[in-house]
Amino acid sequence: MQRGFYVGRFQPYHGGHHGVIERIAETVDELVVGIGSADKSHTQRNPFTAGERHVMLTRALADVDLTPYIVPLQDINRNALWVSHVCSLCPPFDVAFSNNALVIQLLEEAGIEVRRGPVFDRSKYRGTEIRQRMIEGEPWQDLVPDAVIEMIRDVNGVERLQQVSKGDVFER
Ligand code: NAD
Repeated sequence: MQRGFYVGRFQPYHGGHHGVIERIAETVDELVVGIGSADKSHTQRNPFTAGERHVMLTRALADVDLTPYIVPLQDINRNALWVSHVCSLCPPFDVAFSNNALVIQLLEEAGIEVRRGPVFDRSKYRGTEIRQRMIEGEPWQDLVPDAVIEMIRDVNGVERLQQVSKGDVFER
């Protein structure tokens, strides 16, 4: 029985994340999925709340062959303490999976094995690209699991993102 760890902001959870987790499911039985920047929402970079991202993940992972433990993780101001912060909140895990350079650096400095995963077409499976398409009213739905489309529709997420991306009208 092996338990892995995978962290992301999932703004939103997309096909690249899903492809990574499907591959991870081939090597571990259980996966701690950290919702990073859980304290952030309603901004252009982080439009969705931790709760909304929790629903996206729970529904999208229902048909993946592993047991997920989804844990919201607030950001903290000191990178040097971040791994301790993560470990204080998550179930214990044997191995981590990441392609994020800072995350890899911090976990490996703490003595945790980190496996890099395959990269799925970053020109489209990228949160920045998907959020930009939403802002500009372009199609984005084929880049995320159906469960994510439903969640974003339920909370009027595209309208929210378009609104917050206008910034402060008094600054213009
Ligand atoms: P993300 O959602 O952008 O990506 C999550 C993971 O998926 C990353 O490993 C990324 O490389 C991978 N990924 C994304 N698109 C992919 C694709 N198309 N194909 C394959 N892999 C793909 O999230 P992120 O920003 O990397 O999340 C890291 C989180 O950790 C953030 O919330 C960050 O704030 C947090 N963090 C916090 C601290 C701190 O609080 N001091 C320190 C380090 C990290």
